[in-house]
Amino acid sequence: MTKIAIVTLGCPKNEVYSEYMLGVLSNSNYEFVDDPIKAEVVIVNTCSFITSAKQEALETILQLASLKNSPYLIVTGCMVQQHGKELIEELPEVSAFIGTEALTRLPDVIEKILNGQRVFDVPGYEEILPELPRFAQDKKPYAYLKISEGCNNCCTYCTIPSIKGPYRSRPMEYIVKEARELAESGIKELILVAQDTTAYGIDIYGEYRLPTLLCSLAQIPELYWLRILYTYPERITPELIEVMATEPKVVPYLDIPLQHISEDILRRMGRPGTGTIGIKVIEDLRRSIPELALRSTFIVGFPGEEEKDFQLLLDFLSSTKIDWVGAFKFSPEEGTIASELPNQVEEEIKEERYQLLMLYQQSITRACNERWLGQKMKVLIDGKSVGRSFRQAPEVDGLIYLNKSNVPLGSIVTAKLTHVYEDYDFKAEIEM
Ligand code: SF4
Repeated sequence: MTKIAIVTLGCPKNEVYSEYMLGVLSNSNYEFVDDPIKAEVVIVNTCSFITSAKQEALETILQLASLKNSPYLIVTGCMVQQHGKELIEELPEVSAFIGTEALTRLPDVIEKILNGQRVFDVPGYEEILPELPRFAQDKKPYAYLKISEGCNNCCTYCTIPSIKGPYRSRPMEYIVKEARELAESGIKELILVAQDTTAYGIDIYGEYRLPTLLCSLAQIPELYWLRILYTYPERITPELIEVMATEPKVVPYLDIPLQHISEDILRRMGRPGTGTIGIKVIEDLRRSIPELALRSTFIVGFPGEEEKDFQLLLDFLSSTKIDWVGAFKFSPEEGTIASELPNQVEEEIKEERYQLLMLYQQSITRACNERWLGQKMKVLIDGKSVGRSFRQAPEVDGLIYLNKSNVPLGSIVTAKLTHVYEDYDFKAEIEM
């Protein structure tokens, strides 16, 4: 059996894509190995969102090409969608480049390269996303559930619409079937992801159907938690807030990437009015869901960002007290409107503002965490004596370190939060 390894770079959506590739291959005569050094074929699933992600992808490919077992390399993912043609010349070490919409042809591609052929298969976007088998290699009690592909928003700094194409919702029956299979395989928490989860359904049902989808998913008996990431402020509707407030499986947690709060900057970002709407939506959410945990993401150093704009952002953070915040320094991406805008900010100033924002937010996150000290929380066990409550999304928010290590993975325990640990994490005692 041919040994295959997959190296996944980038965001949770790419993790799901890798599991689809494993799903497509699991029907054929292959053996999956974790370590590329043991593989005959290595698939590199790339990210291309920003320049540093492309550099990481190229370094990873060249490192794999220099392995002494000289595995056949297949490169896929966003970097192939965006730069496929250039990469053929640049990377002679690679045996095949396949686009994200060609993954069902992966077994054929592998047979061809094992017979010495070089393959380039990067088709355009499929109207309707196909139903795909999924295979999870590592055993985690949570999984990401991709509900759509592409994006119709026009953020001026973003390459995603040019890489992933227009917004295409997955048919609800495909999503619910996949969710049921994941839950039956032991998954307790599903995290809904997309470029914009709140636009779900508008293309194939003519209306926003995220609330309906959540209610369908909540019918799956084995599921414990449903979590929503990547929402777009103006599409957080009263219907969505209602479902979040009343459906017990939908955790009181929301990720709303606001990117900035200065209306001047948001206009330049191609996100006019989303700051004012964002503030209103957060008020509405907190009125209906007082225990809500919020996550957001911001870009500092966007072209034209002056001290007063940055100060507006800091003031917003200290008045709104968002639980978890991620930040990026603006990166002028080739082919985006923002890369051509005047008044580009110096790297030094970007770095200064990035450091200051994260420092500012560190004490806010600590204060938000301290409000929960002494509380008894339901904790999903993610690993040896570590877990998360509804307030923490995996891989991006803090963790809860428990006083016992023999609790099975995927168990849900009640634990009392005793300490905030290094601002972001907790220590807790399991209730027996
Ligand atoms: S919503 Fe997100 S994925 Fe879509 S264009 Fe804006 S930043 Fe890019």
